[in-house]
Amino acid sequence: MPMSHVTAPLRVVIVGGGLSGASLAWHLAQMQVPVVVTVIEPRAELGRGLAYSTTEPTHRINVPAHRMSLDPDHHDDFADWLREAAASGRLPPDDQADAGRGDLFPRREVFGQYVADRLAPHLQAGAVRHLRARVQDIQRNEDGSLLLHLSDDGLVRADLLVLATGHPPPAVPKVLAGLSGQGPLVADPYDPAQLARVPKDARVLIMGAALTSADVIATLDRQGFQGQITCISRHGLRSRGHGEVIRESEVDFTDPPLQGASDLLRRVRHAIVDDLAQGQGWQATIQRVRDQGGAIWTALDSAARRRLLRHLRTYWDVHRFRIAPQVEAVLDRLIGAGRLRYLAGHLTSAMPQADGSVQVAWRLRGTRQIQRQPFDRVIVTTGPAHDRCIDGNPALSALARLGLIAPDPLGLGLDTTLRGWARDPKGRDSDRVLIAGPLARGQVGELVGAPECSVHSLHLAQEIALHATFGPTAPSIEHARAVGQD
Ligand SMILES: Cc1cc2nc3c(=O)[nH]c(=O)nc-3n(C[C@H](O)[C@H](O)[C@H](O)COP(=O)(O)OP(=O)(O)OC[C@H]3O[C@@H](n4cnc5c(N)ncnc54)[C@H](O)[C@@H]3O)c2cc1C
Repeated sequence: MPMSHVTAPLRVVIVGGGLSGASLAWHLAQMQVPVVVTVIEPRAELGRGLAYSTTEPTHRINVPAHRMSLDPDHHDDFADWLREAAASGRLPPDDQADAGRGDLFPRREVFGQYVADRLAPHLQAGAVRHLRARVQDIQRNEDGSLLLHLSDDGLVRADLLVLATGHPPPAVPKVLAGLSGQGPLVADPYDPAQLARVPKDARVLIMGAALTSADVIATLDRQGFQGQITCISRHGLRSRGHGEVIRESEVDFTDPPLQGASDLLRRVRHAIVDDLAQGQGWQATIQRVRDQGGAIWTALDSAARRRLLRHLRTYWDVHRFRIAPQVEAVLDRLIGAGRLRYLAGHLTSAMPQADGSVQVAWRLRGTRQIQRQPFDRVIVTTGPAHDRCIDGNPALSALARLGLIAPDPLGLGLDTTLRGWARDPKGRDSDRVLIAGPLARGQVGELVGAPECSVHSLHLAQEIALHATFGPTAPSIEHARAVGQD
């Protein structure tokens, strides 16, 4: 008679419990994958991360609630949860959440509450364990497993390690280096204390014109700010609003197969013209590009990807990452009152002055013209420094020292396979380390918004399930489906 072996379940450790780490833990628990799941995250609640831990009331989700579900098979899960939570009195009243078109844009912290709420039963049942700590160092054991050193001196062993450390802190642009440590510089726009110190009548310069810049302006406005704001960015374009989408676009950007970046641009332009001719906003086409983003990106070679990033990224970012209608209304009001303007150009110098202000010089885009103006505050909203994600994080630095991870060639995060496994500096696939969330977007494509993060986490959960069943030689999920092992 064959001997039966009882093997210990795989220890899956997720570093980072923002939306990516929390949704992966949730999918693993929902699928009842036979693994032990530990999430290491210093914040009190899983699912909040950088985006959803804010308590600022003007910070709203920028994608309507019916698109922000944890469960890709149940699009209305968040919207349903909102209704239930409001009806049962668990949510404070928010009469501004409905922007008037039936689309709900609740406060971002409410979305964090939803994710934490969905995960709670799995935490209580012990299917997921949350350790409130930061990973400070990682070593490799002789059997190839990894030993994590935590900030509370704890040690955790991982058979599989998932990096879900998300958005690195923003970097201060070189031109502002002389202001570091000085009062007029607001280096971290996500820190409410720094924004609360901006005087109400200040002359404010914001570097960056996208979503974070819009968040900052809405926050200042809520604080009773009465001064002037100048936003400067390379193209001077601000994040667009949602407009009206009558019906979803059905254009297929993947068939026939794309011939490169210019072909994609041509097809998107044609689709927008068609949509406009039918009285439909361009938003329908951009949503379609976003929905097919993974397939589009993976169909392009690395030269085409580089071209897209170099020439089209700004345009993509301001049209795809749209602002909530409530925030758009604030920006429009301030522009209308002559208190907010957008400039296209780049800063050439920023000199601190004796009176505490900063003399800033910039060159307007497409000209040689230098303009100068004093400001009382300079706020950096140029976004997380993804190209420096390894250096700024001890967990990632330790894995890089062990030769287990490498930056992706496009500077968007970490190098991965399409199935989510980390690649080492020699391009070899790991069978220990997986990458979740925006860190993997160099390979996966559009992977920043909550809908895409949830889908990616589901794919990683399926990959882990296969690995737990078959070991490192696991077939792909497509192969497993084809042979009926799904
Ligand atoms: C300000 C902002 C607003 C957004 N708003 C929306 C929106 O309205 N709608 C939408 O669809 N998308 C939105 N997004 C995008 C999206 O939801 C995020 O990309 C998503 O939150 C990514 O989550 P994450 O878990 O990968 O990263 P993060 O949220 O950055 O979380 C990473 C977590 O890892 C932890 N961590 C890091 N290093 C360590 C370590 N060494 N040890 C332990 N823990 C560690 C951190 O504490 C953090 O909690 C927003 C993004 C941002 C930045």
